[in-house]
Amino acid sequence: MRAIVIGAGMFGASTALQLARRGVQVKIFDFAHNGKATMAGAGIVCPWATQIEEPAWYEMYAAGARFYDTLIADLNGAGETDLGYRKVGALVTSQNADDFKAAGARIARRAATAPEAGDVRLLSPKDAQALFPVLKDGLEAWFIPGGARVDARLLSAAMVRQAIALGAEFSNDYVTLVQGPEGTAVRDGSGTLHTADEVIVAGGAWASQILAPLGVDHPVKPQKGQIVHLRLAGVQTAQWPVLLPMTSHYMLAFDDSRIVVGATREVDSGFDYRVTATGQASVLEAGMAIAPGLAHAEIIETRIGFRPAGPTIKPIFGRVPGAPGLSLANGLGAGGISIGPFAGKLLADVLTGKQTEVPVAPYAPQN
Ligand code: FAD
Repeated sequence: MRAIVIGAGMFGASTALQLARRGVQVKIFDFAHNGKATMAGAGIVCPWATQIEEPAWYEMYAAGARFYDTLIADLNGAGETDLGYRKVGALVTSQNADDFKAAGARIARRAATAPEAGDVRLLSPKDAQALFPVLKDGLEAWFIPGGARVDARLLSAAMVRQAIALGAEFSNDYVTLVQGPEGTAVRDGSGTLHTADEVIVAGGAWASQILAPLGVDHPVKPQKGQIVHLRLAGVQTAQWPVLLPMTSHYMLAFDDSRIVVGATREVDSGFDYRVTATGQASVLEAGMAIAPGLAHAEIIETRIGFRPAGPTIKPIFGRVPGAPGLSLANGLGAGGISIGPFAGKLLADVLTGKQTEVPVAPYAPQN
């Protein structure tokens, strides 16, 4: 079997790797647009605290986090050890007592059937601050040991490298779809046509542009996120847990004294690739409200990513009805770093006729 994957963000990179592992001849094209979501994503992998209760979606989110253990072990085994991945744990807190109580009940219920979440426990404000030193005084927190963070830039690049090691070809090219007599083909920047048994559109927020020439109406739109990176010079942040204050904002830390504060969720943003005063100010304000110790941190950069947001929060993947040889891998929205690697595996299973671990019908593209 031969496959072409358009887009090498979290979804495309994983699909390409998993197909290559199943012996498929893979070609990957990735233009890496400004605002590629995977390049801006925060990197939190912690499904057990989510406020979303939709069963199918939660099952996917939880399975995505479970899959990380296998994925990271496999990549490490192949020599890919620089992934920014660490199970630092997650602190879930809230300034609202009712929300905090509800979060505790939700996390306990989920952790009861998810040993990978670890032994969830309630921390006093002092103990929470010991783990996350810039945290506001007086806040209790639920600690979820299985919570992790990852550098999605490094992880997606590692998945592409491993696909290439298995024989895949990669090209940093802008491509268009062409409907030929023998099915869907891909035209690269030089005008060359590439054919395959399956063309997989993993173009993130740009997928509807890619599909338009074929008349396929695809509902995913860009949802802009502005996310601020700070540095606390000289502070060892490598072991700091992810901080989830039960709002749309959050924080996490990486090894280089870097704290990441996220993020805006700007619907109907289009592809506006600009750091705006309001966007940056709102993220910093929310961050410092929960972590006042960041007030004197240095601003290193503000990243912008366009989340591929569908009409529901569920991903959309599988064969496109009525378009032989065309598949979709999209709609990861705000959870794609957690779900993308697993969703790529599921799609590879579908395309190679294997049984999937979870039902995939709820994610099938519609006409
Ligand atoms: P993308 O990463 O956008 O990749 C699509 C690729 O397709 C791009 O490289 C693009 O250039 C390419 N492409 C498009 N058109 C063409 C073409 N014609 N030819 C060639 N290439 C093309 N998720 C989590 O689980 N945890 C988090 O903490 C988290 N934080 C986030 C914070 C922010 C600020 C943002 C923006 C997102 C966050 N996410 C998070 C969500 C996650 O980053 C995305 O869901 C995921 O990265 C989407 O991956 P993707 O592969 O679908 O799309």
